[in-house]
Amino acid sequence: MKILVLNCGSSSLKYQIIDMDTKEVMCKGLCERIGIDGSKLTHKVPGKEDLVKEEAMPDHKKAVEMVMAAITDADHGVIKSVDEIDAIGHRVLHGGEKFTKSIVVDDAVKAAIRECFDLGPLHNPANLMGIEACEAAMPGKPNVAVFDTSFGMGMEPKAYTYAIPSEYLEKYSIRRYGFHGTSHDYVSHRAIEFAGLDPKNAKVIVCHLGNGASISASIGGVCVDTSMGLTPLEGLIMGTRSGDLDPAILQFICNKEGKDVNEMLNILNKKSGILGMSGGISSDFRDIEKEAENGNEKCKTALEAFRYRVAKYIGAYAAAMNGVDCICFTAGVGENDKNTRKLICEEYLGYLGVKIDDERNDVRGKETIISADDSKVKVLLLPTNEELKIAMDTQALVK
Ligand code: AMP
Repeated sequence: MKILVLNCGSSSLKYQIIDMDTKEVMCKGLCERIGIDGSKLTHKVPGKEDLVKEEAMPDHKKAVEMVMAAITDADHGVIKSVDEIDAIGHRVLHGGEKFTKSIVVDDAVKAAIRECFDLGPLHNPANLMGIEACEAAMPGKPNVAVFDTSFGMGMEPKAYTYAIPSEYLEKYSIRRYGFHGTSHDYVSHRAIEFAGLDPKNAKVIVCHLGNGASISASIGGVCVDTSMGLTPLEGLIMGTRSGDLDPAILQFICNKEGKDVNEMLNILNKKSGILGMSGGISSDFRDIEKEAENGNEKCKTALEAFRYRVAKYIGAYAAAMNGVDCICFTAGVGENDKNTRKLICEEYLGYLGVKIDDERNDVRGKETIISADDSKVKVLLLPTNEELKIAMDTQALVK
């Protein structure tokens, strides 16, 4: 079975075709600057030169048409006709309270995705455009929506309810949803398989540390808690997002600097995190590490605060689950940065009996047990694979 996986952003579209018999990625690509001057498609096939097409893409429909042309291209294509695609799996950001798992798209599902535009104003409209573009380009093919919020729907009310007047939950569905759900779902289940843990009772903490960062606790693959909230702003310190802070800071800065709430949210989403803490140097952890090594105090503090926040959440989640069997590191920083993994574990998690094996930890992007044999908690590096998880859910639903 061949599945096309689509991840539509407001001005971008990422895609892969995955052969589910071998789990191989046959091709992948990116459409950039959709609806903006200078649109470009880059199509990659293993072992071949990239195909780059610079052509106006006024909307996602045109982008999907260009993807269809690239995947069936005489030189760079991987299939002869789009008929060879069995189904399309779409990443959809926000499923609100309606969707607890992935679902085959029909009119009711599209209406529900539309109802969640308020909750995911940048992504949900683009996700729906992607679905409608595929319906137009490949009539009759099943489309499956895989929600970034589904994993978080496993949480109990005590974990997802904010301590604000209950009318806001009732009127506007204001609650913790959590994001990166596809990644947390994939990695927590993979951890159980890879480390041979009890599939029903394993207590797993997944640290998804990338430009966006979040952390989850799950028992037997069911989410107990997760750090992102109503939006992806809450929780860990990220590349450009602040994560947790005292909400009164908004009012204080608004009053001092004559800003409104929208401007403040833009600052908290796009100009904060390690970018903001470093005084604007970079949102990329590699740049901040270099500057910290050169003695930049703000960068040192930013990295220390990042690790400290991750460790605080691990401690909180160990308490939330009354124990932890396994801690997993994933995403850009989690998969590539051995120092961050080592320091989080050694500076803060000794009391849990966590012990890192330095030789095992000297690895990047490869499924590995990085804890010592006598560590009380298994620590893993597990590369995330959101596209494969989307394809797996799609296959399960259309089989
Ligand atoms: P992601 O959002 O998962 O693609 O992760 C992107 C982040 O991973 C960027 O901030 C990168 O700086 C970071 N990253 C990638 N490789 C490394 C590395 N070797 N050391 C530290 N950070 C890295």
